[in-house]
Amino acid sequence: NAPLSEVDPEIAQVLERELDRQRGYLEMIASENFVPVSVLQSQGSVLTNKYAEGYPGRRYYGGCEEVDVAESLAIERAKELFGAGFANVQPHSGASANAAVLHAIARPGDTLLGLALDQGGHLTHGMKINFSGRLYDIVAYGVDPETSVIDMDEVRRLAVEHKPKVIIAGWSAYPRQLDFAAFRAIADEVGALLWVDMAHFAGLVAAGVHPSPIPHAHVVSTTVHKTIGGPRSGLILTNDADLAKKINTAVFPGQQGGPLMHVIAAKATAFKLAMTPEFKERQERTLRGASILADRLTQDDVKNAGIAVRSGGTDVHLVLVDLREAEIDGKQAEDLLHDIHITVNRNAVPNDPRPPMVTSGLRIGTPALATRGFGDAEFTEVADIIALALIPGADVEALRARVATLADAFPLYPDLKQ
Ligand code: PLP
Repeated sequence: NAPLSEVDPEIAQVLERELDRQRGYLEMIASENFVPVSVLQSQGSVLTNKYAEGYPGRRYYGGCEEVDVAESLAIERAKELFGAGFANVQPHSGASANAAVLHAIARPGDTLLGLALDQGGHLTHGMKINFSGRLYDIVAYGVDPETSVIDMDEVRRLAVEHKPKVIIAGWSAYPRQLDFAAFRAIADEVGALLWVDMAHFAGLVAAGVHPSPIPHAHVVSTTVHKTIGGPRSGLILTNDADLAKKINTAVFPGQQGGPLMHVIAAKATAFKLAMTPEFKERQERTLRGASILADRLTQDDVKNAGIAVRSGGTDVHLVLVDLREAEIDGKQAEDLLHDIHITVNRNAVPNDPRPPMVTSGLRIGTPALATRGFGDAEFTEVADIIALALIPGADVEALRARVATLADAFPLYPDLKQ
């Protein structure tokens, strides 16, 4: 039982250097966040040793009395947080949750209608070489090429034409709220089930600063590690008792074996924290940060460099930058921001003329910096840094120094040593 630094110094150094990286860079990947130390404690705990196939009170292994408590707390808190009648907290990830949802509500060969990957959808919503694209017959809707907004008339037209078994509403890169009631009306009209994947905006929903899909959808899936800021994992919610049974069976034994009890305990803690006023205040800062960023990136100096903000702004925690008319492409912009110590990811724009490894867009999110403590003043500063970086002729050294000032002012995990 020697410490990691003795047993495996190479991995110990990775952890140390990664902590330094997270402290020194401004994290603006829209799907990332920083978990609290309490969540790190559960995830790095002895619960990782325990097998617990089954559900609380109905396990296939002995010795589950303590992990039963943890899972029951996670379930009850998830239900309370989102106002849902049923929660399955076992999915290892968002993709596992989505695989289980489809396993529960569709059969291979059924038709699914979802947002195309290159228009902001997710791999698990029907991408060709993902399990979803291989097992199901996929019809995809997109965004309006002019406005970058989903056209509900087009969704309805495709639904009426193709009569899908499932309509998927949810996204990985989309800057606006979805109209859940309109999606449900279309689903009802064509006899489809509505599945909302709120992986990205679940934290906003939990805080009540974004409409909830729960009253509208037959089933809702989410990750726990994006805006919620909990452990890397998934969650499925429904209000339908019959679907609840199917979902439980689809997760175990349908998709998974032993649940990750250390992660489930960490989820319970994350859901508890998500019910606090501090969490709501953080989600409000997240939203304001994104709108400050969108405002700055639509000013004349940025516009004159051929850079646009897709849909002209944002209602959520991210901004999509369109570089189709700019001198730099998505890869160059990502590298340039990395050079000044801001981490973002390049992202295809609809009908992107550049290849997927290059792209003509950036996705920039504010959840991790809001968790780090950023408020309006800091988001205004970081927005200005990003704007100046993207305009040709940036003074990289000066911008890196401004980033360092911000990072130093908001120490990350000040008491943590790897
Ligand atoms: N669903 C959506 C909408 C996502 O954006 C993501 C992650 O990017 C997932 C599902 C998958 O989550 P995970 O990476 O945990 O498998």
